Amino acid sequence: MISRRDFIRLSLLAGAGAGLGVGTVRAQETAGPRSRWVFLVDTMKCVGCGLCVKACKLENEVPYDLPVTRTWVERYVITGEGQISVDGKGRSVEAGTVFADTPMGARDGYKQNVFHNYTELGSNVVVPPDMIAKSFFVPKLCNQCDKPPCVQVCPVGATFKTADGVVLVDRTWCIGCGYCIMACPYGVRFFHPVYRVAEKCTWCYHRIVKGMKPACVMACPFEARRFGEANKPDDPVAQVVETDRVAVLKPEFGTRPLVYYLGLDENVR
Ligand code: SF4
Ligand code: SF4
Repeated sequence: MISRRDFIRLSLLAGAGAGLGVGTVRAQETAGPRSRWVFLVDTMKCVGCGLCVKACKLENEVPYDLPVTRTWVERYVITGEGQISVDGKGRSVEAGTVFADTPMGARDGYKQNVFHNYTELGSNVVVPPDMIAKSFFVPKLCNQCDKPPCVQVCPVGATFKTADGVVLVDRTWCIGCGYCIMACPYGVRFFHPVYRVAEKCTWCYHRIVKGMKPACVMACPFEARRFGEANKPDDPVAQVVETDRVAVLKPEFGTRPLVYYLGLDENVR
């Protein structure tokens, strides 16, 4: 009996759709040795400038002024014990209180120490500099999970994994049911407001199959985002992943993410 995976693959190759994924899958099926890409995020180098988010939006037809994004940068502030300001009023917090936000995905970078619309407390939360015990930025994107729950739940095979391990959405097959958006434990999927289908980061698949790096990697001035090939032993990114203390997000879900983090703080959600 034909497997679901083969059915999807054969259907795609039969030319049922003409989206990005269809052509690239065919190319990879007939190409030589397959790439196994790997993504590295160094949280110790990220300054929260948001240039990566801007570059991604421009590269990938993500509406620039809408609150949707394929990649984003989260800001974390961990407090000491003392007083912060909530809507202009003092409020006591315990040591180790965590504040995190990502307004517009950090498209415009972080320029103020104000957390706007922090729903748990108020609309303007200010942590005075002397109350900041620790602060850092965490870029996030699709983890191109080796065991992707988003692929498992798609009822029509529109979300699929390529032969080289990248999870894509075929826009011509997606029926917009949203199951994959609910299934992703990392919250990286959203409805594309123009195309009305599920949308997500592809690690700029259209670029990487041509030997280029993802747009966000190229845009980062500090090499907080790096991209490499896991099956090349001399690849510098692969070497870091192999030898350094790297971590992945939410390993407890068993998704086996391929985005690795250096300096990942225990408070990151
Ligand atoms: S991070 Fe989410 S969208 Fe990306 S492959 Fe994993 S489950 Fe799917
Ligand atoms: S471009 Fe680099 S430094 Fe700037 S926010 Fe993105 S990852 Fe961080």
